[in-house]
Amino acid sequence: MMAGRERLYRTEGIVLRRTDTGEADRLVTVLSPDHGKLRLLAKGARKPSSRKSGHLELFSHTRLLVARGRTWDIITQAETIEPFLALRQDLLRTSYAYYLAELVDKFTAEEGLPSLPLFRLLLETLRRLCNAPVLPSEARYFELQLLDLAGYRPELRYCLNCHRPVKQAFFSPSQGGIFGAECVGGHQGVKKLSEGALSKLRLLQTAAPQQLAGLVLTPDEEKELEDVLGRYISYLLEARPKSLGFLKKIRRQETVTVENLQK
Ligand SMILES: [Zn+2]
Repeated sequence: MMAGRERLYRTEGIVLRRTDTGEADRLVTVLSPDHGKLRLLAKGARKPSSRKSGHLELFSHTRLLVARGRTWDIITQAETIEPFLALRQDLLRTSYAYYLAELVDKFTAEEGLPSLPLFRLLLETLRRLCNAPVLPSEARYFELQLLDLAGYRPELRYCLNCHRPVKQAFFSPSQGGIFGAECVGGHQGVKKLSEGALSKLRLLQTAAPQQLAGLVLTPDEEKELEDVLGRYISYLLEARPKSLGFLKKIRRQETVTVENLQK
């Protein structure tokens, strides 16, 4: 045990990911408000008799008692606060939840830093996904708010080059924002934005969550926003998020099973 640190600590977390380890153990990645992202060992969680495992379901919000360990801190008690059952029962909701969890996991480091705003963003988004019809704008709103909290807020108002207001915008994933038509020359990989898409992106960047239901995207704007934010996120992560492909398939009503999602 390290000097000056309590052996046990209490926290709460949203389960982002679970991986099997050892004979019957599980490593559980959670986002907590006060310790940021944690990877914790749940001993014996894969045994049918385990009392903890039912309280460590994917995407659930759980109260935890944790003991400091040498390699991994160990979950000694777990108690569900909000089970978010609908997120594991409905394929569309499941695929959204996977995508949000993957983004949070990839954009956070295990540094033990408090992350209350990110925790709240995830918790509130999961609640809306559970309790209301799923809005196409929900994932785009989450992406923009997450980018903001992670320090990658895209510039959507002024030209990155001349800092003047932009009418005809070209989005650059590598520069993290827009150029006007007069300044875009020479920039690679830029994507022209329609006027509608640009204004919806701006609205989503600054909207409060309760405004989402009133923010309607046309099918074309939906595609454009998904494409442009997907390009930016893929650029930042140096890879396309795995669960994004599944989300697209499910929204096109193709056949995808939960087993495929977990691969
Ligand atoms: Zn310019």
